[in-house]
Amino acid sequence: TAEPRVVLSARGLGKDFSGFTAVNNVNLDVRHARIHALIGPNGAGKTTVFNLLTKFLQPTRGTITLMGTDITRMAPDAVARMGLVRSFQISAVFPHLTVLENVRVALQRPAELHTQFWRSLKALDVLNGRAEVLLDELGLTPWRDTRAADLSYGRKRVLEIATTLALDPEVLLLDEPMAGMGHEDVHTVADIIREVAKHRAVLMVEHNLSVVEDICDHVTVLQRGEILAEGDYATVSNDPRVRTAYMGS
Ligand code: ADP
Repeated sequence: TAEPRVVLSARGLGKDFSGFTAVNNVNLDVRHARIHALIGPNGAGKTTVFNLLTKFLQPTRGTITLMGTDITRMAPDAVARMGLVRSFQISAVFPHLTVLENVRVALQRPAELHTQFWRSLKALDVLNGRAEVLLDELGLTPWRDTRAADLSYGRKRVLEIATTLALDPEVLLLDEPMAGMGHEDVHTVADIIREVAKHRAVLMVEHNLSVVEDICDHVTVLQRGEILAEGDYATVSNDPRVRTAYMGS
């Protein structure tokens, strides 16, 4: 069967910091409806690659293409509006608002540009409808009236993902979505990421290799800024170079 279409790609991507090469010659193809993991030891360049893709950093070399458009020179907000959205490691939810209110706030954000429309009652119906759909998609409906502060850590992370989905991204970048979580929360968030990826591409940095094995379709391993290996989890985890890199020898 044919692979789904590539929605985000990088070719020859590189970044130097005052003479130090943090990322070099990185090629990536992120596909629709696939979960793609970016893994590698500390300092491998994973965060820098995320910052380059979202345009928080300007690449020194290479090109980035989002749904056929060259975004190499675009500003981060323009790239986000085009559908490449990053969920930050530090939770961006309002603790005193309920789950539903948080999602509504997030849905209103991109619409602020069209204030007149969103003032109408009809628009409020649309907004409420979309909020319900998002809560349902992410399994948050039972907590719709719970204050974000009272959610479990994992559920808070799911709410944070919900707020990024309000921007209706084609590609969702997740930076260590399981960081600091217990077993049960990891399970909850893994299920949600799988659900989210049915209709979108997901690229995630993740240290928990059993999560990568469970939910990721494709794995790119970075070491010292370069791609060491890539393929499905079984392929990369059996690669002797990857084993060596992870054992630190
Ligand atoms: P990872 O996310 O895989 O741990 P990073 O992308 O954070 O790796 O870092 C890759 C390398 O680039 C590291 O050696 C780091 O010290 C270096 N680096 C990252 N950001 C900067 C910066 N702003 N200035 C100088 N060096 C940096």
